[in-house]
Amino acid sequence: MPELPEVEVLRRSLGPLVVGDRIERVRAWNRSLREPVSRSLSRRWAGRRIERLRRRAKYLLIDLEGGVTAVVHLGMSGRFTLTPSGAPRQLHEHVALYLASGQRLRLRDPRRFGLVLALPTDRLEVDRHFRHLGIEPLGEGFDGAYLAAAARGRRAPIKSFLLDGRIVVGVGNIYASEALFQAGIHPRRSVSRISAQRWQRLADAVRGVLRSAIEQGGTTLNDFTDGAGEPGYFQVSLSVYDREGESCDRCGGTVRRMVQSNRSTFYCPGCQR
Ligand code: ZN
Repeated sequence: MPELPEVEVLRRSLGPLVVGDRIERVRAWNRSLREPVSRSLSRRWAGRRIERLRRRAKYLLIDLEGGVTAVVHLGMSGRFTLTPSGAPRQLHEHVALYLASGQRLRLRDPRRFGLVLALPTDRLEVDRHFRHLGIEPLGEGFDGAYLAAAARGRRAPIKSFLLDGRIVVGVGNIYASEALFQAGIHPRRSVSRISAQRWQRLADAVRGVLRSAIEQGGTTLNDFTDGAGEPGYFQVSLSVYDREGESCDRCGGTVRRMVQSNRSTFYCPGCQR
């Protein structure tokens, strides 16, 4: 599943190639994605200039002139790539934005959990897709104090808390496991029993893990034209994730796996308390 770092790399790579270009028309071959693709996209977007690309959680936001935003979510298996407009339609290519420069932005999505929406730019934050979203882990305000405040009055295990998109967005299962290892916090520890210092260490670890994934992604997927790799996690160097039974690089103990809310959690009992 495309994760926050992948969408961020997509945003950074596509931005310079499409900002300033203009949408000529939109074509949808298959409208049954996670939500039906509106028939009015072409009418709403045609002729508008692309002003900037942003990201909120795992949504790519393409701001168009006139206060309209094209929202793209890659769902489970989506790829959003840039090709020459004459390129033949590919298998599972459901929606395409034809640009005045002759380029085409296309959404391919075999499992069709992706999403393409038109929203007024100034209504994004209150839209039902966005209004419940937590803070951006790479944005301002995400720090130990924020996490401690969000945890007040709760008793959830820290791992579930980190995966809760209403608290913080885009911390996937692998990143949560790795950040907890780096911060030395046991995944089952209750959020009511974490010191201010450890909250700060955790916030730093979350940002560090995501940043290194973005860096990694920027180098491995340096072009988002067609053919760039499969969606998924970028290959960050993993200390605990998927290393059950192997020895911990830090203490030499054995990495363990457990299941929390139906997700695998990997941790080192020696390093994480
Ligand atoms: Zn260890």
